[in-house]
Amino acid sequence: MAYLVFARKYRPQTFEEVVEQAHVTRTLASALTSGRLAHAILFAGPRGTGKTTIARILAKCVNCAEGPTATPCNLCRSCNEITGGNAIDVIEIDGASNNRVENVRELRENAKYMPAHSPRKIYIIDEVHMLSDAAFNALLKILEEPPAHVLFLFATTEVHKIPITILSRIQRHDLRRVGIDAIAGHMKTICRGEGIEIGDKGLAMIAREADGSIRDGLSLLDQIVTCSDKTVADDTIIDILGVIDRDVLFDVSAAVFSGNLAAVLDICELLYRQGRHLVKFYTELIGHFRNLLVVKSRGVEAELPDITSHEIRNMAGQLEHVTQPYLYQLVTILFEEEWRIRQSVSPKTALEMTFFRMMQVKPAFSFDELIEKLESLRTGIPEGGNTTGENKADYQTLRSRPEALSKNTADAPPLVPAETPDTQAAPDTQAAPDARDTLNARDAMEQSRKSQPDPAPDATGNARAQGRPDSPGDAHQSDGPDNPAGDAARIDQMSTDEILKRLREWICSKSPALKACISECSFHFEPPDRVSFAIDADNPRANLLKSKKNLSALEKHCKDFFSRQVSVAIEVKEKKPAAGSPKNRRRLEHEGRTHPFVEATLKTFNAKIYDIKVS
Ligand SMILES: [Zn+2]
Repeated sequence: MAYLVFARKYRPQTFEEVVEQAHVTRTLASALTSGRLAHAILFAGPRGTGKTTIARILAKCVNCAEGPTATPCNLCRSCNEITGGNAIDVIEIDGASNNRVENVRELRENAKYMPAHSPRKIYIIDEVHMLSDAAFNALLKILEEPPAHVLFLFATTEVHKIPITILSRIQRHDLRRVGIDAIAGHMKTICRGEGIEIGDKGLAMIAREADGSIRDGLSLLDQIVTCSDKTVADDTIIDILGVIDRDVLFDVSAAVFSGNLAAVLDICELLYRQGRHLVKFYTELIGHFRNLLVVKSRGVEAELPDITSHEIRNMAGQLEHVTQPYLYQLVTILFEEEWRIRQSVSPKTALEMTFFRMMQVKPAFSFDELIEKLESLRTGIPEGGNTTGENKADYQTLRSRPEALSKNTADAPPLVPAETPDTQAAPDTQAAPDARDTLNARDAMEQSRKSQPDPAPDATGNARAQGRPDSPGDAHQSDGPDNPAGDAARIDQMSTDEILKRLREWICSKSPALKACISECSFHFEPPDRVSFAIDADNPRANLLKSKKNLSALEKHCKDFFSRQVSVAIEVKEKKPAAGSPKNRRRLEHEGRTHPFVEATLKTFNAKIYDIKVS
């Protein structure tokens, strides 16, 4: 017996065997069992997704000796004839080569005669979009009122080329591209049956090359099996198909994320020596980073038909410490450089230059993180008083890599003043309020250090009287005998106003980073154990205060203060009604323009105010 290629040998013979087109097969099965099958059906979809296969199975369902049924027996004369491709009553016509009006006229004449031995005469017209306009017009009449014994089944890859007059007379079913997992799974089943050993990675490579087509996948599998033994190594598949090893893409992204330029250049060199097509590699690289971006934004549940679920999990692992804005910047660079690589006489050099550029980008901050940094800047102390190396590194990044936040690198000013908060301030520091606060904070720290050996009972009060912000050094002094924090009995004897006053001092001393936020809040205490912080919705710090991190910090400070578990709530008060008169409006605009936070932001980002909306 002549050798049958896998695509023919393993052609599905029932609806259950069709891969990944359940939305179509289920509808057809239901129509068959309920006796509501249309007289003309069109299957549209990409190549190799099962259009003709489904049409043949449907023909069996209709003409089976046990039919019409959704599960043809595959044993009767009619079923066997259709499987063998020699059924008298199932006429397959290639629309590409029988596209003239004469062919359709002939079809119309023959359709009048009854089927030879089957219940219905079935015409399967493949590539029906190739018919000429006259041929389509000739089809119109018979499509509208076909003889009861005739069933038309059409298949096309280009449904938009079919006239609307035809489409309105037929029932249309759209087939989908087949996902990589489904193609690989189908090939795995076939390999098992044939006694061929191919690893999952190899099958995934073949499936990816199939580009959503089961038939293409099986043809490639045939080719690979013909060229090798029963055991097929991944390297053999890479060589035969000329594809890029997916591991290489993961190696590149890992090296870029870790800033390892040498590793990336080594990979470029290796691909070049192996004679890989670098432009094709670049195309896959763009797709890979695009997929990383999708996985970053949607998690492991992301639906990516072009990659396997195993790869999605690997991507999620690689992205654990990578921010979305940073990833977006990398994808943008890849797109911007694409034309250069395609047009360059030396794609390898252009590729290396692209990697150089990608390495220049440093992880960017989200807007919320930026606001947080600015707040820290105002107090002169990194978040939570933390001066660990990590935070310092962030500041250094901000200083040295303003492009991490703005693509306009040429014009972008440094994002923070020239000195870091933990170095000595230069006298010519920008005279922004944040800078003045920084200096005041340092004064306070000096003061605290001096007063440490002789703690005054009202040290905190003195600091306040002098108009200086509390410094992190105060955190330790605040635990002095005057502070009731932790002394539940003493707190219970105090008035509500006194408790709130002490609580405010306590939080300010414990967390300078929170000080700016809570300074604009009103406190409320509902004995015995509920504290709420109210802030206006239009206050720029409202979102910052609501952040999970700050809420848990407030809970901790309140718990320490009351020495018991306290319920903490952040209440965001809705915006006030619109500012009536123009005069009032101007006043509010002026207040907004001269607000210290706005001024600090303008100075830090070298920004301009384009519009102010008063609501
Ligand atoms: Zn049958």
